[in-house]
Amino acid sequence: MARVINFNAGPAGLPLAPLERAQREMVDFEGTGMSILEHSHRGKAYEAVHDEAIRLLKSLISIPDDYDVLFLQGGASQQFAVVPMNLLPKGKSADYIITGGWSEKAYEEAGRVGKVRVAATTLDGKQYRRVPKESELDLADDAAYVHLTSNNTLFGSQFQTFPKTRAPLVADMSSDILSRHVAVKDFALIYAGAQKNIGPSGVTIVIVKKDLVLAAPKDIPVIFRYETHAKANSLYNTPPTFGIYLMRNVLSYLSEIGLDKVEATNAQKAAALYGAIDEMADFYRGPVEKESRSKMNVVFRLPSEELEKKFVADAAKASMVGLAGHRSTGGIRASIYNAVTLEHVETLVAFMRRFKNA
Ligand SMILES: *Cc1c(COP(=O)(O)O)cnc(C)c1O
Repeated sequence: MARVINFNAGPAGLPLAPLERAQREMVDFEGTGMSILEHSHRGKAYEAVHDEAIRLLKSLISIPDDYDVLFLQGGASQQFAVVPMNLLPKGKSADYIITGGWSEKAYEEAGRVGKVRVAATTLDGKQYRRVPKESELDLADDAAYVHLTSNNTLFGSQFQTFPKTRAPLVADMSSDILSRHVAVKDFALIYAGAQKNIGPSGVTIVIVKKDLVLAAPKDIPVIFRYETHAKANSLYNTPPTFGIYLMRNVLSYLSEIGLDKVEATNAQKAAALYGAIDEMADFYRGPVEKESRSKMNVVFRLPSEELEKKFVADAAKASMVGLAGHRSTGGIRASIYNAVTLEHVETLVAFMRRFKNA
């Protein structure tokens, strides 16, 4: 078997064990004579998988009992609209912290639903090179909520600590959920597309405080109310059953490793890669300020675009794929989510040394 080293930003690499489990269970799921894809979402076999996924997620990041865990569809992008539909009542305004392309989109979409303000932006020319300090935030006293993007997938920056806000804090954690411990109780709502760190595309996780779910306006379409999905245990309509199944496999695998170990390994991986960039600073250049560097998406430039193209092509020949930067930013981006191992990163670092000296 020849598996490549996958540095894709999303959908991203998945750990091998959960994939092999899916392969083993594919045709005849637990002796039921059919695959999980073919089971009713109202049947016992699927419901056990669904409930296990919720249970594993709750225990992995210690989600308190006063939160609902929802499995929805439409991606994080749909949440850009659904969050304000539920949490931004008429007459109120929401504060957005803008640190990259995804938070720009979240802000613009929320502006189509209700009133929004920019609480901070770190746009510098055409780039975002950092996340703001807490002291830079201009927060309204009566904001309905404060929204931030915990990890900026395109530009490669990440909040290392989160601001303490008076208003409920909402975070798009699509590209760093389950990569580290977070204190869920400090957030009113966390949402994430699964396809970066926890599973395939098609599943969106929403972790939301129950009192906010109940306080949401009742004049929005039923399908977009968190309350609808909370009451139905995310089985109001047909959920993405196979995506949730595969996510269950990943969550079960992560539980065996433990989040402490996952977080420590992610720190080692990032240290190895940034260490190499800094050591070879005459050739590789990291545009993101050190304190804001993402442990998930490591962005760097080479002396020219030609060299960047050659870097991506030569890396692919050495079985390392997905290293081209986002189409809006260019450069190189190594996404080193949970499924990328320290060994994979060390292989990339060795390649970077060879490439520089070639
Ligand atoms: C990928 C990503 C999104 C978009 O996710 P979709 O599931 O494609 O809608 C939103 N926010 C962040 C931080 C992302 O990394």
